[in-house]
Amino acid sequence: MRKPLISIVVPVFNEEKNISPLYGALYREWYMVERSSWLYHCSRLSEGYDFEVIFVDDGSSDHSLEVIKKLSREVDNVRYVEFSRNFGKEIATTAGIHACKGDACIMMDADLQHPVDILRQFITKWREGHEVVIGVRRRSKSDSLVKKWGGEVFYRLIRVISDVPVIPQATDYRLLDRQVVDEFNALPERSRITRGLIDWLGFKRGVIYFDADERASGEASYSVYKLIKLAVTSVISLSLFPLRFAGFLGLLIMAVSLPMGVVMLVDRYSSLGYEFTGSAILANIVLFMVGIVLVCIGLLAFYIEHIYHESQGRPMYIVRNKK
Ligand code: UDP
Ligand code: MG
Repeated sequence: MRKPLISIVVPVFNEEKNISPLYGALYREWYMVERSSWLYHCSRLSEGYDFEVIFVDDGSSDHSLEVIKKLSREVDNVRYVEFSRNFGKEIATTAGIHACKGDACIMMDADLQHPVDILRQFITKWREGHEVVIGVRRRSKSDSLVKKWGGEVFYRLIRVISDVPVIPQATDYRLLDRQVVDEFNALPERSRITRGLIDWLGFKRGVIYFDADERASGEASYSVYKLIKLAVTSVISLSLFPLRFAGFLGLLIMAVSLPMGVVMLVDRYSSLGYEFTGSAILANIVLFMVGIVLVCIGLLAFYIEHIYHESQGRPMYIVRNKK
C-alpha cells in the first residue's frame, strides 16, 4: 500500500543560503526517531508518510534557482516551479499548491522561520480529522515595532469588517487536506491573499501554536510598503466596508446639518435670537449637499458590491460531502 504523500510548498525569493538547510531540516525531521509523545502512529515520520518539496522560485535575483535545480537533480523528492519574474509570495504559494500532488499540502516559508519540528503536530491534527491546520505565531523576536503594532491594529480592523472568521496571528504555515487543495485550485481570483481564500473556503480548522524563529539568513523582503499593500488587498478582498463607510459618513453629516438647517430657518423667520450669519447658513447648506453626495456614493457601493461579488466568480458554496 502506498504511504500518504505530504507535499511541502515553499515560495522562494532570494533565499540561496536557506534552501539546503531547509531541505536538510525536513529530511532529518522525516527520518529522525521521535522524541516526544504526540506522534500519531509511527516512530519515524518516514514510516508513515512520504514527502515531496515544491520550491517555487519567485523570480529570485540571486542563485536560489541554481541551488534548487541542483538539489532537485540530486534527490528525487524535490520539484520546482520557476517564475519568469517576481509575482509575489501569494501567487508563488498558489502556484505551489497548484503543482502539489500530495494527500496533504503544507505551505511554509523558506527562511526557516516556520519551525520544521512541528510538522508532526500538523500531520497529527490532520489525521485527527482537521482539513485545514493553521500555524499561529506566538511572538517574534525579530519583529519591528511597526510590524507588531501594525499587525495588532490590522487584525482588530479585520475582525470588525471581515465576513469570515479570522484568527489573529494566523500565519501562512498551514496544512491543507487534498479536498481543500482541490477546492482552492478551483478559485479563479487573480488578486489574492492565500490565507484569506483558505479561510473563506471553510472546512474544519485546527490550530497549532509556535514561536517564530529569527530569519536564518538574508533580509526579510517584506518592506513596510509591501505590508501596507498586503493589508489593503486583504481588507478589500475580505469586505466592502470601506465603500459603505462613505455612505454612513454622509448619513451622519446629513443628520447633523438637517436639524441645524431647520433651526436656522426658524431663527430667520421668528426670532430665536441666534442671529446666524449668512456665511454660517451657506456653510450649513454646503455641508448638507456634501452629505447627499456621500450618501449617493454609499448607494453606489451597494451596486459595486453586487458587481464585485459576481466578478470574483467564486463558487457559491463549497461542499464537503454528499451522497
Ligand atoms: N517570498 C516570495 N516572494 C516575494 C517575497 C517573499 O516568494 O516577493 C517568500 C520568501 O522567500 C519566504 C516567504 O515568502 O519564503 C516569506 O518572506 P519573508 O521572510 O520575506 O516575509 P516575513 O517572514 O517577513 O513574513
Ligand atoms: Mg520570514
